[in-house]
Amino acid sequence: MIRELEKIYQTLYSHYGDLCWWPANTPFEVMAGAILTQNTAWTNVEKALERFNGNLSPGQILNLPIEELEEIIRPAGFYRQKSRYLKAVTEWFMKYDYDIDLIKSRSLPDIRSELLQVRGVGNETADSILLYAFDFPTFVVDAYTMRFFNRFPINAGKTYMEVKNFCEGELPRNAEVYNHFHALIVHNGKKHCKKIMDCAGCPLEEHCEKIPV
Ligand code: SF4
Repeated sequence: MIRELEKIYQTLYSHYGDLCWWPANTPFEVMAGAILTQNTAWTNVEKALERFNGNLSPGQILNLPIEELEEIIRPAGFYRQKSRYLKAVTEWFMKYDYDIDLIKSRSLPDIRSELLQVRGVGNETADSILLYAFDFPTFVVDAYTMRFFNRFPINAGKTYMEVKNFCEGELPRNAEVYNHFHALIVHNGKKHCKKIMDCAGCPLEEHCEKIPV
């Protein structure tokens, strides 16, 4: 029997298709984007990334003086904090010799709790990095996800970990599914399930309670 959450996933996927997330060329670019996107829109992240002029690499982040790094990433906001977070996450990556396979060889619980110890890395940033840079099957929850579950008639929980555990329990344990589903929720959240919801044409309209939150 197909579970409710899988039906939602399939409905969104049939409507929007593969959204090809994460928009990055390398795992390190995903890591940098996951830090830079904290508390800001992706368009600001893009502006910050462009200012690296194609030179975004672990070596570049580690070698740049902090003031120069701050200046480059200024369009992403909170640039003083984020420049330090970028260096911290890059140092974590360096511990693995920037070896993607070595990171992938670790167990998900171990690597996740290790990443959560890195300065500036919380649940959403850790899961974004693990899923989109390293293909670990870990579900990402963000503000769009929370808003969606507050409106749709499914009791997924109220906290980050409750919603994450609920989604992982209801969906096949599969990084590709988690990748697509998070992207689809965000996309639908920008198009329809906005702060002021715009339900006309939303692919989930028929089954939704549309609770205004
Ligand atoms: S029907 Fe409305 S409230 Fe429900 S998911 Fe779509 S946009 Fe959000």
